[in-house]
Amino acid sequence: MIIHLKACSEEQAKALGEKHKAFCMFDGERHVLINSSSVKELPADLEEYTEDYWVFPNDNQLASRHYRNETRTIDLGGIRIGGSSQNTLLIGGPCSVESEDQIRTSASFMNGLGLKMFRGGCYKPRTSPYSFQGLGIEGLKLLAKMRDEFGMKIITEVRDASHVQDVIDYTDVVQIGAKSMYDHGILKACAKARKPVMIKRGFGTTLQEFVQAAEFILSGGNNDVILCERGIRTFEHGTRFTLDLCGVAWLKEHTNLPIILDPSHAMGYAYGVADLGRACVAMGIDGLLIESHPNPKVAKSDASQQLDHEQFEKLYHSLKPVAESVGYRMI
Ligand code: PEP
Ligand code: MN
Repeated sequence: MIIHLKACSEEQAKALGEKHKAFCMFDGERHVLINSSSVKELPADLEEYTEDYWVFPNDNQLASRHYRNETRTIDLGGIRIGGSSQNTLLIGGPCSVESEDQIRTSASFMNGLGLKMFRGGCYKPRTSPYSFQGLGIEGLKLLAKMRDEFGMKIITEVRDASHVQDVIDYTDVVQIGAKSMYDHGILKACAKARKPVMIKRGFGTTLQEFVQAAEFILSGGNNDVILCERGIRTFEHGTRFTLDLCGVAWLKEHTNLPIILDPSHAMGYAYGVADLGRACVAMGIDGLLIESHPNPKVAKSDASQQLDHEQFEKLYHSLKPVAESVGYRMI
């Protein structure tokens, strides 16, 4: 249950929250109490403090269209997605920040195409301990340097709670990876961050579980959450994962959170990424994330799926008419 409280002090709101074992947050306009969806009736002693309230069939609450019908508008440092913007934001960059030379070549190329947001991982959640783990804080500093040099905004990933504050401090948008989306230390730190958060769906995560992870961030007081579908694990091994476009349709129908699609990690091979990218944009989405490396053959992570710059540029030029055909604009 979500309850909008009548105008009251923070202390009063917190006391009511504690009494009813409910989350208490300020949504920018009012204090809000959020309790489990198993609560179906407004407690009698809250009636006098209540402006409005909503009952839910499950714990898709703050993120649900039943609560707020319009897709949230999210400001990514001057770049708007969601709401009535009809923007599809293209995010490009390599899987990992590997060196100053590599990241500058990539950033310079993406900036030359006019991209507004640049990606690159510094803390890589690798499946093997022997694989490249990322440059850590040195990588964050390199990304910040690229932001200063080229003016693009930065999105980078947090891997575990030990460095979550560094990532929050350096980046413009915090990415929570598919393997970290259940880490409550990360979710809670991101809930307090004053930065937008893009949360990627775990590859064994149901849609309901995915939305509930987002609810941890929303209920902790951060309104700016974006969902990212990046492929789930199915019986099929020919491709790395299976991009769940049905799931995207479900998320669009049932949640008010902007949605970014990542065909690179779903496909796992560069050859399918451009076709999938166009299919994603044709769904009318808020953003598209594509991995691209100046020389994919020598990439230290996700080498097989990264587009080279020629392939990226070709894809880039083909996206505009697709977005326009469904009433969106590539930015
Ligand atoms: C990435 O974006 O490079 C990444 C590791 O993604 P995911 O969490 O989807 O595997
Ligand atoms: Mn990657």
